[in-house]
Amino acid sequence: MTSTLIRNAAAIVTGQRGATSRTAGPDIRIRGNLIDAIGRLTPEPGERVVDATDCVVYPAWINTHHHLFQSLLKGDAHGLDLPLTAWLAATPYRFRAAFDEGMFRTAVRVGLLELALSGCGTVADHNYLYYPGMPFDSSAILFDEAERMGLRMVLCRGGATKVRQLESELPQALRPETLDAFLGDVQRLTARYHDTSPNAMRRVVMAPTTPPYSMAPAELVECARTARSLGIRLHSHLSETVSYQDTTHSMHGMSPVRFVAEHEWLGSDVWFAHLVKLDAEEIALLGSTGTGIAHCPQSNGRLGSGIAPIMALQAAGVPISIGVDGAASNEAADMISEVHAAWLMQRAAAGERSLPTYRGGQGEDDRTAVSADDVVSWGTSGGAKVLGLDAIGTLEPGMSADIALYALEDPRYFGLHDVAVGPVASGGRPMLKGLWVNGRQVVDSDALNNVDVMELRAQARQAVRKLMTL
Ligand SMILES: [Zn+2]
Repeated sequence: MTSTLIRNAAAIVTGQRGATSRTAGPDIRIRGNLIDAIGRLTPEPGERVVDATDCVVYPAWINTHHHLFQSLLKGDAHGLDLPLTAWLAATPYRFRAAFDEGMFRTAVRVGLLELALSGCGTVADHNYLYYPGMPFDSSAILFDEAERMGLRMVLCRGGATKVRQLESELPQALRPETLDAFLGDVQRLTARYHDTSPNAMRRVVMAPTTPPYSMAPAELVECARTARSLGIRLHSHLSETVSYQDTTHSMHGMSPVRFVAEHEWLGSDVWFAHLVKLDAEEIALLGSTGTGIAHCPQSNGRLGSGIAPIMALQAAGVPISIGVDGAASNEAADMISEVHAAWLMQRAAAGERSLPTYRGGQGEDDRTAVSADDVVSWGTSGGAKVLGLDAIGTLEPGMSADIALYALEDPRYFGLHDVAVGPVASGGRPMLKGLWVNGRQVVDSDALNNVDVMELRAQARQAVRKLMTL
């Protein structure tokens, strides 16, 4: 079995929290698709050796919420400075009917390339480009493109059976599906692609786009029961803004988390994107059921939604993961930017909560502030937990070899006392000396096999020109 020795790293970050968040290394051996050993290792005869001097090693990041089709909708002037509801109409919904097979494929490639170059090995895409009579299979394209780049793909099959407008007023590409068609496709995708193994390269998830509006309440229950009978997870958007709270309250007379709780949509097999606006009862419900979150700080910041109460959720027992969300609401849809933002914004939020001692506070000493190690664990082992991919997310012997190797060659990283924190604390885009996914090297010195970056750039530019005429 072939082996690779990543040798003499300056630091190895494990993806765990606390005392085991680092390992001395300085070497890691990959054998087959697994991490074989970590320690001071001697090269074996015939073994490939990768010199990691002055480099830092992380578990490959796990992105738990994205909309890859939006990778061609960055910086749309109509939606750039709008809040969520107005932005949804101005940007993603205005353009989604324009996506044909070629444009969708280009968008997916751009998004996956951006993620891979940040050291991300697993992508959960919440795809909702589905409509009756659709002439191309967007699910197949997502799996094909991820396989081509060597990345893990978790397809969260979105969609809706309800729209707020009259269906006959909408173009075909914005019309809802019937519940039978939606569930039938989830069953087809599960049979074709879903791999239950803990190191699966492909998974399928039940993911109607927005629980309070996308389906009738009874249909949500049917989705939850069907997912559990198929052995797949549940995912959706929840509690993103105050307007989400208002709409759910006026339609259903309760809070968003209470609403999903009453429709069998909580549990350790469920995770939600955003969860920005929550009351104490909702945090307790999420925690007691082990329901997870995809925290998307950059999108929440860009859309002015707020800052999710992650430290309270973590204290309540909610598994925390990181999602970049679609690039139409996050023009830096890579994992390094996202974890850097998570660290800064959660620390800023702790400062916002703090009170001076004369008013009964603890002054600057806010014990609820996030640490850089917390953020790494959210983007790695936390992601593995919410996706149920138990063989990835930490660097330990016996785990799948999903490894990012960063060369901190940019002056941004010069002068760091602890180079291990560089990617999270300094942000930017460290040169990716190597990315391994399931033991296979998919990035070598910032280059991906099978991807012509300049050709992709030209395709993206051409697609954007076409979109800008709409
Ligand atoms: Zn989203």
